[in-house]
Amino acid sequence: MELETKLAILAGAAKYDASCASSGSQSFPGSPDGGFGVRVAAGVCHSWTGDGRCVSLLKVLYSNVCRFDCAYCVNRVSSGIERASFTPDELVDLSSEFYRRNYIEGLFLSSGIFSDPDIVMEKLIAVAKTLRKDRNFNGYIHLKIIPGSGEAMIREAGLWADRLSVNIELPTEKSLTSLAPQKSGKLVFDAMNNVSRVTGEIEEDRGHRLKSAPVYAPAGQSTQLIVGASEEDDRTIIGLSGALYRKYSLRRVYYSAYTPVEGGPAAGLFRNLLIREHRLYQADWLMRLYQFSPDEIVPPETPFLDSALDPKTAWALRHLENFPVEIKNAAYDDLLRVPGIGAKSARRILEVRRSRPLNFDGLKRLGVALKRARYFITLGGSFLDRPENPLRLRRILAGEEDALQLPLFEF
Ligand code: SF4
Repeated sequence: MELETKLAILAGAAKYDASCASSGSQSFPGSPDGGFGVRVAAGVCHSWTGDGRCVSLLKVLYSNVCRFDCAYCVNRVSSGIERASFTPDELVDLSSEFYRRNYIEGLFLSSGIFSDPDIVMEKLIAVAKTLRKDRNFNGYIHLKIIPGSGEAMIREAGLWADRLSVNIELPTEKSLTSLAPQKSGKLVFDAMNNVSRVTGEIEEDRGHRLKSAPVYAPAGQSTQLIVGASEEDDRTIIGLSGALYRKYSLRRVYYSAYTPVEGGPAAGLFRNLLIREHRLYQADWLMRLYQFSPDEIVPPETPFLDSALDPKTAWALRHLENFPVEIKNAAYDDLLRVPGIGAKSARRILEVRRSRPLNFDGLKRLGVALKRARYFITLGGSFLDRPENPLRLRRILAGEEDALQLPLFEF
């Protein structure tokens, strides 16, 4: 099979995996001088050059041959798709060539389970290791860990990759049993645990300045959850993500709206899956950066996130007793809870109010989204705006009713 055809098949087969943002890593530590390639700073798997060109990771499967029959996956054994596999040399050449031409900044490599997990893992590692050692590849590498592979493989993978990920895919053992019966939640968690343990051990050695301590997966580990292929509510999903962040120190959980595949779970089990995926990302953000607990974001009485409101605004409306927050003397943590005030604007409020009085226009200049914040704050005891009726407030914030056009007051 022509290499181009393989690439088309195996890049297409990888597109359902969302867990590939190239965040959290600088140049690969220990990379030799004179290696080639640059990477962009954190947070994205695509970047745009000055002339508008998009550069991204080469995101491919090593092979789309798979022994498993996960109902939601186009690569499952019972699917009638065309199959292909790279050799390690082909992938190394392809990645190097694309990188040299600045088509890509790095490589995201996963695979179908075409053989025993260790054998599959060996191939993925061979690609990453050859790129680093023989081709002086300084770019970003994200390797998928195949659940069931041994600790030795997991140790080796992290020596060459920036990021490792083990996909959990479905949020409960019940859904795994029904939709991915050959998969085991235990094997996924064991793999995450191994990554986390090896990371901890190596970090400890490095903390003791042991020269022999290598760098291990400096961009940490992540996972992906498919949303909407199974019936779990958002409370279950966010609860699981919260537990994964705590237990395995995951850098990111990625949420991927289920794309119906032929013979897979019915489309339309949930409507508006893309909005749901977006709300889950916002909820995840609140957990990771704003110290909200899963229970606060999705309490038992409302187990699905509100599709019409961002989760922080929805929380504020459920807890109007915590508002208004007085901008002149509120603590940082209280400012963070105000809809429309982000971490950066909260820090700037603290800085600026030390040296000069603030007014509502000034808050806007500090990055506060007054469109939302105006109903939840006071400045020197004065509201900018506060509809008395919580139902009306909800309608305004959900964009179902025009906000009152009150002038900005000066203080
Ligand atoms: S293990 Fe399941 S999800 Fe992964 S490639 Fe195979 S069928 Fe798809």
